[in-house]
Amino acid sequence: MEIYAHPTFQMACRQFDLVADHLQIPESHRDRLKYPKRSLIVSLPIHMDDGATRVFTGYRVQHHLTLGPTKGGLRYHPDVALGEVAALAMWMSWKCALTGLPYGGAKGGITCDPSKMSRTEIERLTRRFTQEMIPFIGPQVDVMAPDVGTNDQTMAWIMDTYSVHEGNSVPGVVTGKPIGLGGSLGRREATGRGVAYLIRRAAEALSLDPGKCTAVIQGFGNVGSVAAASLAQYGTRVIAISDVHGGLYNARGLDLPALEKYAAQNRGLAGFPGAEPVTNEQLLLLPCDVLVPAAMERQITAANAGKIQCRILAEAANGPTTPDADEILRQRPEIFVIPDVLCNAGGVVVSYFEWVQDLQSFFWSEDEITAKLFHILDNSWTQIFKLSRQHNISMRMAALSVGISRVLEAKNQRGLFP
Ligand code: NAD
Repeated sequence: MEIYAHPTFQMACRQFDLVADHLQIPESHRDRLKYPKRSLIVSLPIHMDDGATRVFTGYRVQHHLTLGPTKGGLRYHPDVALGEVAALAMWMSWKCALTGLPYGGAKGGITCDPSKMSRTEIERLTRRFTQEMIPFIGPQVDVMAPDVGTNDQTMAWIMDTYSVHEGNSVPGVVTGKPIGLGGSLGRREATGRGVAYLIRRAAEALSLDPGKCTAVIQGFGNVGSVAAASLAQYGTRVIAISDVHGGLYNARGLDLPALEKYAAQNRGLAGFPGAEPVTNEQLLLLPCDVLVPAAMERQITAANAGKIQCRILAEAANGPTTPDADEILRQRPEIFVIPDVLCNAGGVVVSYFEWVQDLQSFFWSEDEITAKLFHILDNSWTQIFKLSRQHNISMRMAALSVGISRVLEAKNQRGLFP
């Protein structure tokens, strides 16, 4: 499908084809599983603060509707394109299925640079996007959540715009909202917390003591910052971390609370005292026990996969490792990969809890939520780890096999509408 042509979509398709070959899925079923069910592209004219009118482009891709509403994040970034969004939607499908959530995958985005826009411009853009999406979204249709460049405030504007249209409050149209609007305790922390929990499980499997491990993290946004703090709680020393402008390294360990405060005051990490600057490229090659890409896709490539120096590669971001890099990592059994669809699934699991709480108007404690989150991650981990060992396949192949098989089974059970 030419309309989705994009390196990230090609990558998701290549991963799918490898799994389809492994599972011996008949050719006749493959396209139906692979290509998005529906996609919407919208033009978004808004008034800028200087009085000019600018038109942005927004996307929403719903990958499959077989198991329930679709679910997935909304990204604001200059590189957002239809094919990238479609790939992210496909990965969401496998992720929801492998964790047993009653959703298909979706993803959305607007091609824009929120770091160069005012809060009021971002609010107008978000409301305009939501208005255009109204026929396409809803608690039983498609539920958005934060992703790169969006946050709980973005979700609040979407919920408000949708609710005004409906004439009553509809908290279940988004997850990752502020707590006061029906958000869930523990949602903001869920992805990073889940990443750290699974790193601990992997460390146990490799007989590593998390209290003696070092970690390097690319990305200091929602996922990277919480993963860092959660790893520190397990006693892991975070020795390097980065944002889009570059990274910081301190072999003795970074002072994370001071770094949080500094980054909030300075809108970034650059200039933080007590650490050496490193580039994002250098950061990925630092010797460490745990490497956590928590920023963008296609960071571990054929160019650097042979040179990374970690024991555990924990894919907190979506699609950080290209299939070419995967080939190289297969020749390096000393590196254990926790694949993205499992590693960052904590976010959508607690989004699911938020949606259930909103539908019931009955809210749970954070302890209850964290316990339920770890229970689901633990079950998924155990199943995938076992499958990987039993069949001598990579963790990615095992995780995607579970996700894809569940969607295929559901499609076969429902049948084709004649
Ligand atoms: P975010 O916008 O909060 O943070 C992104 C971070 O990455 C920022 O520190 C940014 O400066 C940095 N960054 C951006 N481009 C970069 C580049 N080219 N090189 C290095 N750093 C770069 O986003 P987030 O919500 O933390 O999401 C990060 C990743 O995790 C994405 O791949 C996203 O799809 C994935 N993810 C997020 C969630 C969630 O709940 N937010 C859930 C699952 C997966």
